[in-house]
Amino acid sequence: MQLNTFAKAAPLLKEQNFNIDVDKFLKFMGHYHHNDWIYPSAIHRKLKIDIKVVYSILELLTKENYMESYLQIICPNCRRYTGFSYKNIGDIPEVLSCLNCDFEVGTPLDHAVIVYKVL
Ligand SMILES: [Zn+2]
Repeated sequence: MQLNTFAKAAPLLKEQNFNIDVDKFLKFMGHYHHNDWIYPSAIHRKLKIDIKVVYSILELLTKENYMESYLQIICPNCRRYTGFSYKNIGDIPEVLSCLNCDFEVGTPLDHAVIVYKVL
């Protein structure tokens, strides 16, 4: 049984008044481990937390070094993760090929979503 790294963030989250069930949130976050991708939309769907609030919480946890934010390129053809993610907008190339379906993505920035990687 792996320790829930996010449990340490409980006092911090509780003092922020996000109007969420912090214990339920942290229990859910316990499913994520080092180097896992966290999709804000998944938290929004599973916990029914407003997407803006989800981003606020994840940004806070990023500031506290629990995770890092990335831009992940989603393939417009197969709708899956292309296999490419970038730390900065400036790092995104003009074109890339999806690792799942070989589709050539011409404007990768248009297909970028913000995701978080557990540190
Ligand atoms: Zn694809």
